[in-house]
Amino acid sequence: MAGIEFKVHHQQSRFHNPFQDMQLTTQDLEVRTDPLTGHQSVLNTGLEGKAQILFPDTDHEYLEQRGQETARTCFLCPEDWKKNTPAYPEEFLPQGRLEHGQAALFPNLFPIGAYHSVIRLGDKHLRKLNNFPVQLLADGFSVALDFVRKCHGYDPEMRYATLNANYLFPAGASLVHPHFQIINSPTPSTHHELILQKCARYHEQHNTCFWDDLLQQEKARDERWIGTTGNACWIAAFAPMGYNEIQVVWPDRQNFLQWTHQDVKDLARGLNQVFNLWHEMNLSTFNFTCFSAPLDQDSPHFCCVMRLVNRQNVIPHHRTDDYFFQKLMQNELILNRPENLARKMREAFSS
Ligand SMILES: [Zn+2]
Repeated sequence: MAGIEFKVHHQQSRFHNPFQDMQLTTQDLEVRTDPLTGHQSVLNTGLEGKAQILFPDTDHEYLEQRGQETARTCFLCPEDWKKNTPAYPEEFLPQGRLEHGQAALFPNLFPIGAYHSVIRLGDKHLRKLNNFPVQLLADGFSVALDFVRKCHGYDPEMRYATLNANYLFPAGASLVHPHFQIINSPTPSTHHELILQKCARYHEQHNTCFWDDLLQQEKARDERWIGTTGNACWIAAFAPMGYNEIQVVWPDRQNFLQWTHQDVKDLARGLNQVFNLWHEMNLSTFNFTCFSAPLDQDSPHFCCVMRLVNRQNVIPHHRTDDYFFQKLMQNELILNRPENLARKMREAFSS
């Protein structure tokens, strides 16, 4: 496992602190580097336990109010929502849309990839994070994977697929109504390409898959390991790309075409546990992306992996959590130590 290195370096910042009678104080900074991508995350020990300063708790009353206001104009709420949503050409999808249980997939009206679909998740307009039932999530992922298969079968150039979600407006969602987004494209996104390339280089150097080695290390260290649901392994990210980043790794699934119904259920079960705990932590929003190796090739260097983060909570006039540090420097702050997050999650997974 010589290839996995959890690099940390420390810096110190000194100043006279007005909240401590202008005494000279020192704050320790812990700078972590992601073992695959080199992405940096900074933990200021002065902020430990004070995430509230930058991440105030969800204002549930305000969230309910926004839910009621946006429901009036929501195009996914009415029973005849199909009238308001686009459909795929018949030669590709004879029904125009795909449905499975409570989930229904149709094209995005303003796509950002050759095949960019939206999945409507159930009839309910607003859900708190403790109200995403396993079956609802499983229906969403079932229809997503069905689409990925059909899309690649119809147009084999669509080799790069991702399963994504923005939930609520601080996370970039233009709709409150719960939905997933699937993008199938002939080219990978910037981050997708980066991790594919880094994993290919790692495989050339070590003749092993980075994700297999990472899981072995994390399991042995038992600091950020959360647990498993079937084939899915859940860990807290060492150098997170967002607030409370959790990574899900499927060591036995290189790409989405290899997923089974059981894999879908296991992902839904784990996600439901994560969302329930996040709700208990007074969080209300999320983004996720699940990456796959290219659909048409054997990729021993890669396997399916999901990144899952919180975004700023729903409060009036919320402040974005992306500023120059994230958006232009591509770094991240750590407000909740990954090891502490993993400990809480581990308890939730084992209960
Ligand atoms: Zn709605």
